[in-house]
Amino acid sequence: DVRHGPILYLEDVSVSFDGFRAINDLNLTIDDGELRCIIGPNGAGKTTMMDIITGKTRPDHGSVWFGSRHDLLTMNEPQIASLGIGRKFQKPTVFEALTVFENLELAMAADKRIWPTLTARLSGEARDRIDEVLVTIGLTAHRDRPAGILSHGQKQWLEIGMLLMQRPRLLLVDEPVAGMTEQEMERTAELLTGLAGKQSVVVVEHDMGFVRSIARTVTVLHQGSVLAEGSMDQVSSDPKVVEVYLGT
Ligand code: ADP
Repeated sequence: DVRHGPILYLEDVSVSFDGFRAINDLNLTIDDGELRCIIGPNGAGKTTMMDIITGKTRPDHGSVWFGSRHDLLTMNEPQIASLGIGRKFQKPTVFEALTVFENLELAMAADKRIWPTLTARLSGEARDRIDEVLVTIGLTAHRDRPAGILSHGQKQWLEIGMLLMQRPRLLLVDEPVAGMTEQEMERTAELLTGLAGKQSVVVVEHDMGFVRSIARTVTVLHQGSVLAEGSMDQVSSDPKVVEVYLGT
């Protein structure tokens, strides 16, 4: 399917905490369907950037647009989420006592648009959607097991699945492979690259091997603004980037 223009657009965004500029004239454009990796040393502003996109933190100035129609700075967190912006934090927060299926069911119910249809049992359509997501995240065989007995990697995939239940247009994913085995990392790479195209995915990640394996475009943040942007080969051979990483 043909995509048009950017899905996310940050222009000259700045925010200070007690006089310290955590985000400093940040410019960032994410194209519709793109898979983008954001890297940068600790304190570069990656988390704050995600907080600004989701409405958790208000910038002091600048603009943040979702598509060409939604000025995110006029909206609160729930309003922004309801546009289809999903965020996955580093630690998995699945409901351990519920089955994988029930976790996905609940995630669907969290979508206010389907509350009216949840009066009795899930519709066939909803069940189909859960089955579809189970295939995407590779957990079909674990459908009726409690989430608490899943491996760390499987919990991470389940949580991504829970976000997918809401059919997001943009997924923000914080350090998805932290604590994963090599094999789980490979599976996560497949999952995230498979999602891109259908939705846009922004991944903050420290593992450079993983970043190299998934990203076409990498954005390097440093001191709250973009230090370099391009392919992994381009940014990793950029003297400014080398200096920042060797200097820390
Ligand atoms: P990263 O995620 O890249 O490690 P952060 O966005 O967490 O960076 O932080 C950027 C800078 O802003 C850091 O120096 C951090 O200490 C500071 N910072 C972030 N959030 C707050 C806050 N709520 N209050 C004060 N300082 C903050």
